Amino acid sequence: MTDSPVTLVADDIYQVKIPLPFALNSVNVYLLRGDVGWTIVDTGINTQIARDTWQIAFDELKITPHDIEQIVLTHVHPDHFGLAGWLQSLAKEAGRDVPIVLSPREEQAVQEIWLEKLVVDFVGWLTASGMTVAMAEEVSDSMTHTRAMTRPHPTALTQHKAGQPIRMGNRTFQTIHAPGHSDGQLIFYDEADKLLLSGDHVLMKITPNIGLWVMSDPNPLGLFLDSLKTVRDLDVRLALPGHKWLIEDWQGRIDEIIHHHDLRLNHTLEAIEAGNHIPYDIAEHIFPTERFTVHEWRFAVAETFAHLDYLRRRGKITQADGKRHFSLA
Ligand SMILES: [Zn+2]
Repeated sequence: MTDSPVTLVADDIYQVKIPLPFALNSVNVYLLRGDVGWTIVDTGINTQIARDTWQIAFDELKITPHDIEQIVLTHVHPDHFGLAGWLQSLAKEAGRDVPIVLSPREEQAVQEIWLEKLVVDFVGWLTASGMTVAMAEEVSDSMTHTRAMTRPHPTALTQHKAGQPIRMGNRTFQTIHAPGHSDGQLIFYDEADKLLLSGDHVLMKITPNIGLWVMSDPNPLGLFLDSLKTVRDLDVRLALPGHKWLIEDWQGRIDEIIHHHDLRLNHTLEAIEAGNHIPYDIAEHIFPTERFTVHEWRFAVAETFAHLDYLRRRGKITQADGKRHFSLA
């Protein structure tokens, strides 16, 4: 059974590794068994192999589409949102209307990012950060390609707010807002079992991308670090993340991630000291960009911008009026 993508990770909770067509090559989704049906948490992106993997999981766990009670999304990045509509349509064909549950802010992000095309000038935003027009257009094209892999889109979305409890399977979870990686991300805490469905808020081996994007809420890195300090106090024996390994040392891993951003902030200041002033050049100083794909460049620029924005808010650097040009304070 070692080849199975399905692993039992807690009582009545299964993890399924769904393949992704990116450098980050899989997303962890979760299936929670309950008396009135199965809850799915996050979904993957729409490729043949991803749909086949869902079928393998359904066969192994003897789930039919009619057994799906609800689909809950931690956030709507394509690797989490992309098969929600397909799963909903499978259940619909089997005669069951399945709600897709997400935060109001993430529902707004669906409208902004995934529907037809971006409602904002993404190419203009990238070039203002120092990217060439050719590279910015390539980034934009790759977004169009990714957008196609989020279809079919769900027919209806159900809003769920942080602070409201939610039942998944036979468990009851607290809903916690976890901003930074995605503005409206939700994570879910089962206090009785000290178990957390942690989305992409805290990851092992890699750190979640914290980016300031054209459509972001302000201050993503500040919100992220504040949130980490808050959720660090939760008593977590096991966190179930959206990528990579399960998290057993919750507080230890959070401390490492906070330390990582401290180093990155210092590195960002050094880059400016060395004479770099715009996000693209500063990113080139910070990241090993020689082998970067346009996809990775997109994340590097947004991540650099988030750190610059944080340093500016702290008074460490200044930003030229209306321009993405930064100097030491
Ligand atoms: Zn993800």
